[in-house]
Amino acid sequence: MVTTATPVKKMRKVAIYGKGGIGKSTTTQNTVAALTEMGKKVMVVGCDPKADSTRLLLGGLAQRSVLDTLREEGEDVELEDIRSPGFCESLCVESGGPEPGVGCAGRGIITSINMLEQLGAYDEEEQLDYVFYDVLGDVVCGGFAMPIREGKAEEIYIVCSGEMMAMYAANNICKGILKFAENGVVRLGGLICNSRNVDNEKEMIEEFARRLGTQMIHFVPRDNDVQRAEINRKTVIDWNPGVQQAEEYRTLAKAIDKNKLLVVPKPLSIEELESLLMEFGLFQ
Ligand code: ADP
Ligand code: MG
Repeated sequence: MVTTATPVKKMRKVAIYGKGGIGKSTTTQNTVAALTEMGKKVMVVGCDPKADSTRLLLGGLAQRSVLDTLREEGEDVELEDIRSPGFCESLCVESGGPEPGVGCAGRGIITSINMLEQLGAYDEEEQLDYVFYDVLGDVVCGGFAMPIREGKAEEIYIVCSGEMMAMYAANNICKGILKFAENGVVRLGGLICNSRNVDNEKEMIEEFARRLGTQMIHFVPRDNDVQRAEINRKTVIDWNPGVQQAEEYRTLAKAIDKNKLLVVPKPLSIEELESLLMEFGLFQ
């Protein structure tokens, strides 16, 4: 008898990092919407105590966080309690945070991921193409590095802009990746430039990426349609699939889907970073 084994999909484990407020959650959800539109099966795990990583995919429904559920229900938790279906069969989880002033956010993230693993969220039968971790990323403490350190995320994209502090944060995140790449599988997949309309921004971030040994995977324009969709509690693709910004997120999703450039980054010194900013005329 001939048996044909179902091919095992390799799930890609992606994490989105970047300075607070730079657009990680917005970019993640809009990109995930585009991936699901392409037929990909995606789970999003919000790793920010703000628990706002899945609002646009869930149409504003507040997802009870894993840590809140554990606190309220004890260990007797079902997958459906902590994971909800969102736009186009995306799967949405919010890790949540420790009680303010007590405990470590990073440890909370690992508790949540371990819980998801125990409940079978990553099992082969789930047929996931991707898991996306949306991680609060400007905190230079062990917590922010947890998903990389523990091998939960393997492919990192950094959201940045041409503003100095966003580039500074991106460079620091590269230092974190470098540290854990030595003994682990984590690699940098690229910079996503989420434009702040800075002069020469595209050229500068392309050059910044080149010097880090990576690529600018897409330049996402700043567009008020993002806010229009947001106020309707939707991703741009869900709100109005025909607008140009929806196309931008589709281009980004396709670029990530076919990306083969996964590198160990080479962080810049502060002097190199400053001279890059000078060269591109920000302070002239
Ligand atoms: P983070 O998750 O990095 O803290 P958010 O994704 O919450 O940041 O983004 C902050 C705000 O920036 C959002 O409320 C959104 O309205 C706005 N924003 C993000 N990206 C864009 C964009 N490309 N164009 C216009 N506004 C944007
Ligand atoms: Mg966020």
